[in-house]
Amino acid sequence: MTAHHLGVETVDKSVASRFAPSPTGLLHRGHALSAVTAWRLARAAGGRFVLRIEDIDTTRCRPEFEAAIMEDMAWLGLDWDGPVWRQSERGPVYAAALDQLVAQGVAYPCFCTRSDIAAAASAPHGPEGPVYPGTCRRLDPATRAARLATERPAWRLDVAAALAITGPLRWHDEREGWQVADAMAGGDIVIARRDIGTAYALAVVVDDAAQGITDVVRGVDLFGATHVQVLLQALLGLPTPRYHHHRLLTGPDGRRLAKRDAGETLAALRAGGLTAAQLLASL
Ligand code: GLU
Repeated sequence: MTAHHLGVETVDKSVASRFAPSPTGLLHRGHALSAVTAWRLARAAGGRFVLRIEDIDTTRCRPEFEAAIMEDMAWLGLDWDGPVWRQSERGPVYAAALDQLVAQGVAYPCFCTRSDIAAAASAPHGPEGPVYPGTCRRLDPATRAARLATERPAWRLDVAAALAITGPLRWHDEREGWQVADAMAGGDIVIARRDIGTAYALAVVVDDAAQGITDVVRGVDLFGATHVQVLLQALLGLPTPRYHHHRLLTGPDGRRLAKRDAGETLAALRAGGLTAAQLLASL
């Protein structure tokens, strides 16, 4: 019998997807859509599915929300391979990636406060809010050195300098097709926060590569964030996965679901008597 008859031609053990929630609140139906889509993609290919807790923001993450994520995954019947990764345990790896970017001359320290940035009158807005006006990129070396000696900075990516190294980049979205990475639109994003020493964009690309993720499944709200993640991958010599940005689910009021919508959390729906099968069928 040939491989075709056995149906094994679809088995691709190199495929790996992940569910990467932040334990800052209870999961809602939109998270279930991300988790089950990523799980099915991996399982259909005979590949790996991993669970990664994105808890770098120690000011907002809570252990009870991580416990709730585990309960929700068990209820949904979604199993994962290998140990659960916690980003809070990987600070030195992100610090090494930041050092690499600093050595490449594409990261600079930023001493601006939120109100400094908001006050920059003409600040245009990108997908993630006001675009940083580049104040600290233009600091003269002596001032920068003096401030570095006494202040703890955030670190920003010098997007123009980075693109000068990488040249134009492309990435693929399953629904939208090939995209030209438009990293300039978001401006010089923070790649290491002053308080926690890293930031989402840096940690996510480092971990997607470290876990061998071939397929990133997540909500379309993160579509715009992908451009700069692809730029970071190119700078750090990491592969770019395939992206699957799915639609966002809305609540009864037509607004997109957020962690604040208490009635739409998986915990509340379960408590109300909904079964996992009913929930999955409704997505
Ligand atoms: N941790 C992010 C969130 O919970 C998801 C990151 C990602 O999937 O790339 O919104």
